[in-house]
Amino acid sequence: MNAAGGLEPASGLLESRSPARPSQVLASFPETSAGEVRAAVAAARRAQAEWAGLPATERAERLSRAAAAVQQAAGELVELGIVEVGKPRGEMAGEVQRGVAILGYYAGAALDPDGDSLPSPDGRSLLWSRRVPVGVAGLITPWNFPVAIPLWKLSPALAYGNVAVWKPAPAATAVARRLEEILHDVLGAGVLQMLPGDAETGTALVEEADLVSFTGSSRVGGSIVSAGAARRIPVQAEMGGQNASIVLPDADLERAASMVAASAMGYAGQKCTATSRVIVVDGSEGFVEALVEAVLALEVGDPGDPATAVGPVISSSALSGALDAVEQARRSGARVLVGGRQSREEGYFMEPTLVGEVEPGSHLCQEEVFAPVATVLRARHLEEAIEIANGVRYGLVSSLYTSDLDAAMAASRRLDTGLVRVNAPTSGVDFFAPFGGTGASGYGLKEQGKEAVHFYTKTKTFTFSPSGRGR
Ligand code: NAD
Repeated sequence: MNAAGGLEPASGLLESRSPARPSQVLASFPETSAGEVRAAVAAARRAQAEWAGLPATERAERLSRAAAAVQQAAGELVELGIVEVGKPRGEMAGEVQRGVAILGYYAGAALDPDGDSLPSPDGRSLLWSRRVPVGVAGLITPWNFPVAIPLWKLSPALAYGNVAVWKPAPAATAVARRLEEILHDVLGAGVLQMLPGDAETGTALVEEADLVSFTGSSRVGGSIVSAGAARRIPVQAEMGGQNASIVLPDADLERAASMVAASAMGYAGQKCTATSRVIVVDGSEGFVEALVEAVLALEVGDPGDPATAVGPVISSSALSGALDAVEQARRSGARVLVGGRQSREEGYFMEPTLVGEVEPGSHLCQEEVFAPVATVLRARHLEEAIEIANGVRYGLVSSLYTSDLDAAMAASRRLDTGLVRVNAPTSGVDFFAPFGGTGASGYGLKEQGKEAVHFYTKTKTFTFSPSGRGR
């Protein structure tokens, strides 16, 4: 373990450790070399022809069986996720069930119509377009949703006839290894290969795959988008957020306070959809006090305890980065309303923290901290609140709490984010609806739902004309 955080190359090995008990090593693995990545992609390419040649009903069947296999191993995946990434029990259990549902959903999608029949250009020929697989999908995933994110990429990739080479985040390698084992027997050889590693392995995968689906930070996503563009391959990148929740005086303020607290601090704020800025419109009397109360009511502790809402952050560097960001804001004149300190001796725990009297242009309001930290900002009216909400380079999700339908309709048109949620927390994703951000939060075609078919297939147009020999 280095001074900076949870992972370090130790005699050529990477290690994944429990953020609640960093002395516990969960997985120790050599980083996959560029040569090994090339070999894996070559093997995947050979397997792809066979996989794409299966009847769609057979691919659907294998995805259904994959869903059943994950369901059967759900308990084990939940325990592993709690320990490896520190996700609170309730959330980890929900994530695994979501993974099962995603596999089942794309088992069905494999049987959707795969093209269009078009009017005959001459009254006799057949003209149609079909969606065909792209080839080998390179999947690069973050540690914070170690089951659902890989599955929401893998499932559509396979349903539409691609095979996958997957590089998970080093901090989630134990979960990744177990998930690969569970899926391997059902899917068959070469259909899914998991390659442990970090930047070097990921870079090599972007150089070899036929398309790349990435989820992670905006910094890494930016470099992957450039590398993919240089190779002219399709790339989608879902990245960070600086999500705003706007509270209007006519909202149910108690209910809004508890939803905002949970979406800002749940899972220690380590969701791309977490609320990071709470914009309170003048007249919302008592809201900030209710928010402080709701934050204080959240249980911080062992992620394995069913009552816990806020577990550890992922690494010591994540913890020190968040503590520094709050301290820097405090030195610039901001006021810590609650929290602001490390909360336990062992493990990377931080008190849920609200920071007020802070400038919208400050670092804390502009950059993703990825910890249980949110700022509280004031706006004179809805117009100003929307301006503040849109005044960041990110654009993943925003939420608005109000009982005024006109205000909700106007704001939802103008909030420049991929998702807008009214009287609902920023955190919350429906796997059957398109998902993804704008600006520094998202690049390329969106993920999930039926939208995924556009990324994981390419269109081919066919014309069949009569041979001219009678009939
Ligand atoms: P990260 O960017 O550090 O790593 C993501 C993945 O990229 C990992 O697998 C990592 O090993 C790999 N990687 C790192 N450098 C690479 C390189 N040069 N080339 C190729 N691959 C490389 O992110 P993280 O810390 O694992 O995850 C947290 C981030 O993910 C946060 O910013 C969060 O907002 C974001 N996230 C976004 C979404 C979304 O859907 N928008 C969902 C979850 C997490």
